[in-house]
Amino acid sequence: MEIVDIHTSSKDYQVFIGENILRNVLPNLENFTKILLITDETVSKYHVNKIMNDLPQRIETVIYTTPSGEKAKTFQVYEDCISFALKEGLDRKSVILAFGGGAIGDLAGFVAATYMRGIPFIQIPTTILAHDSAVGGKVAINHSLGKNMVGAFYQPEMVVYDTSFLKSLPERQLRSGFAEVIKHALISDSDFLMQLMENVTSIDQVNGALLTQFLKQGIEVKASIVSQDERETGVRAYLNFGHTLGHALEAQAGFGELTHGEAVMCGMVYSLLLSKKIVGLEFDLHPFILWIEALGYKWRIPSNMSFEKIFELMKRDKKSISGKPTFVLLKDIGNPVMMEVDEKLLKDTFYMEQGE
Ligand code: NAD
Ligand code: ZN
Repeated sequence: MEIVDIHTSSKDYQVFIGENILRNVLPNLENFTKILLITDETVSKYHVNKIMNDLPQRIETVIYTTPSGEKAKTFQVYEDCISFALKEGLDRKSVILAFGGGAIGDLAGFVAATYMRGIPFIQIPTTILAHDSAVGGKVAINHSLGKNMVGAFYQPEMVVYDTSFLKSLPERQLRSGFAEVIKHALISDSDFLMQLMENVTSIDQVNGALLTQFLKQGIEVKASIVSQDERETGVRAYLNFGHTLGHALEAQAGFGELTHGEAVMCGMVYSLLLSKKIVGLEFDLHPFILWIEALGYKWRIPSNMSFEKIFELMKRDKKSISGKPTFVLLKDIGNPVMMEVDEKLLKDTFYMEQGE
């Protein structure tokens, strides 16, 4: 089992990573008055029996099951969770378990942050992508006018990454989550990137001990950034590498059409191209592109996307300042900078990546 310590200004906690670790790692939950397990339909179908077996029998556990994926992050589902918790009599000494991918972590974390002004919660992530979302304390639901527009900074008591739950992930979700591992390598360390490129030559290799190792390394990158900047006033923004375009593509395609990681991969290639043009990045893109293609990523911007619409969305990104799109660029692998980028360059690079 691997352990990563997370230090933030509001709380210190640990991330435990390994196969079949849940039963041994969960703290003495019997100190809590009740457990509310929040999960989605898909995760429940595969894993609810196992997790119920691993939880202590002497304390009552109630389960709230949401629709799968992004549909869990609505105001309606949020309200339903709160109503359920009230009817079941959860109090301030109860605990919420967020059992699912990033969507469930964000929703359940926001329920925990706000129920009776905040009760403890534990992240039990079940996707690769959640190595990013379960650490760092950002929790949120969506508004019809934008993703993650209502939320909080609220740290979990601990994160238990039992990789036995990841075995049921479909290939597309593996690929989506692995894009964020690649992001963590690109923004932090060329050795980490080389290790990934050498060891993972097809997406079905992303499992077992290798996966535990890469999750740990990705979490360490995130932990280091979050410990310097819990509330995103500075370096935490580097974690948005690839996301300015990525979020715009997701919104334009309709959330759920492109997976988050697919969109972020397009965005990362875009930011690498921009980085070469304006901050002197010398990284050789050709082998990188061949590698991500071998893993099954489609890195070109979909041909039905128009620059004008995407540009409008990028200007509205939460990170953009005074209406100008801001990008995380790389001077070198592991050396990110924030920068406003001029519209013409954005447009030329957009069409270049689209392949037209
Ligand atoms: P997700 O939770 O929607 O999961 C993706 C799909 O996989 C869903 O359909 C889910 O039901 C299914 N699934 C989950 N675990 C499974 C398993 N073990 N086996 C089979 N299927 C499984 O999405 P995600 O990709 O994990 O995360 C994306 C979400 O995370 C977005 O809402 C995004 O905004 C959020 N996010 C948050 C942060 C943060 O810092 N809070 C960071 C990155 C992303
Ligand atoms: Zn992301």
